Amino acid sequence: MTGDRSSEVQRALADVLPGTSLVVDPDVIEGYRADRATAVVPGRPVALVRAADSAEVQAAVRAAAHVGVPIVTRGLGTGLSGGSSAIDGCIVLSTERMRLLEVDRAAMVATVGPGLRNAEVKAAAADHGLWYPPDPSSFEICSIGGNLATNAGGLCCVKYGVTTDYVLGLEVVLADGRAVRLGGRTIKDVAGYDLKRLFVGSEGTLGIITEATLRLRPPPPPFATVVATFADVVDAGRAVVDVVGRVRPGALELMDRAAMAAVEQVRPSGLDLTAAALLLARTDGDPAEADLVLAACEAAGATYAARTHDADEGELLMGARRVAIPCVERQGTVLIEDVGVPVPRIPDLLAAVEATAARHATSIPVIGHAGDGNFHPLVTYDAADPDATARAHAAFDEVMASALALGGTVSGEHGIGVLKARHLRDQLGDDVMDLTRRIKAALDPDGILNPGKWV
Ligand SMILES: Cc1cc2nc3c(=O)[nH]c(=O)nc-3n(C[C@H](O)[C@H](O)[C@H](O)COP(=O)(O)OP(=O)(O)OC[C@H]3O[C@@H](n4cnc5c(N)ncnc54)[C@H](O)[C@@H]3O)c2cc1C
Repeated sequence: MTGDRSSEVQRALADVLPGTSLVVDPDVIEGYRADRATAVVPGRPVALVRAADSAEVQAAVRAAAHVGVPIVTRGLGTGLSGGSSAIDGCIVLSTERMRLLEVDRAAMVATVGPGLRNAEVKAAAADHGLWYPPDPSSFEICSIGGNLATNAGGLCCVKYGVTTDYVLGLEVVLADGRAVRLGGRTIKDVAGYDLKRLFVGSEGTLGIITEATLRLRPPPPPFATVVATFADVVDAGRAVVDVVGRVRPGALELMDRAAMAAVEQVRPSGLDLTAAALLLARTDGDPAEADLVLAACEAAGATYAARTHDADEGELLMGARRVAIPCVERQGTVLIEDVGVPVPRIPDLLAAVEATAARHATSIPVIGHAGDGNFHPLVTYDAADPDATARAHAAFDEVMASALALGGTVSGEHGIGVLKARHLRDQLGDDVMDLTRRIKAALDPDGILNPGKWV
């Protein structure tokens, strides 16, 4: 974008926003260009809007529409697909200052601004004796707005559902600057199309979420943690299929040896690096559930299986699982997969990933929300080596092709962003892509909301 055009965009924003909300300093803007998808090269924004409220979001959107420049909404930039990665010449709209937080104990709902961190919503719910379950591993550093826009999952989702299951109402600013309220505070509400769900997971391409009413639950009962190791990652996959057929655990996570080794290097947690894979299950129902999980692991050939009722010990292990992505990121550039398959196909997916890693001579540590069939093979490479980079990209494509061949999806929770745009087309096919584009065109006819990514 030429200097004149940048000035025009900045002037249009300055006309409608207070100085406290508009940032044009390139050094500050630099910190808002990229998300955590390190393989994606972000563009150069011309302005940053740190909106204080919905009215300022509306003003920014109207200004963007008036001058015809894209607007990329950003929560806290922890996305793993390039969703909030800047586009050349765009306005970045950060929601970090939109921090409304009200808990209605009697109605068991929280009304929140998009800029709150997930952990802050959990803490506020806990202060009222309630629980907000969705728990991405990044819960301490990601925003609720980002969670809504990606329909984030997490560890407890296998039993308690994903973000969309907790959304009762949304306020959304549309591409023409209007703010609409969708849904409300009632548990059951089938009046009209369920439009709020259209915006959940839409990655900033259809509207900007400026407020949400979230459903809260009573806290879960105390849990036991089952730990099991396997000499073969495919055996661990078979154990998962068996566990899910017997009980609904509160979490069921997997780490393979390479992922455990990466964690041990950064945060020693006593993980058994002689094992090919580790399963971590949390059971919070009938105490007999832990017995069933142990039996399933043993039947699948676990080399070790034990349970603990010590919450601190269990949390230490789950904590090791949560930090796996940043630990692997220390080993190189990472193309983060987010594939999902139907539960019975989990062993096939794990075998396919192993074969892909060997075929392309590429390191692919695997972690996953195994109980959901949602895995993150972490394709790791040296970006300074063109040959290694080419092999990594081939492996990345191949893992997604394997998931689709097994009846799965290219994204279980991270969204499509930039990284998986091509693969989304492979999954949805021409007719569904056409329908998707028609919805986009109806809501954002001038294509100003996070354009040019996957839709
Ligand atoms: C170590 C690590 C572990 C992670 N573990 C998990 C996990 O277990 N489960 C999981 O689901 N994800 C996980 N993630 C990914 C990431 O944290 C989530 O996708 C999170 O929901 C992104 O939130 P954010 O505030 O960082 O959003 P951003 O990265 O800023 O944005 C994500 C997308 O949402 C859009 N967006 C943001 N706010 C709004 C809004 N208010 N209105 C409209 N669009 C908006 C952006 O345009 C972008 O497309 C992990 C990330 C890291 C770094």
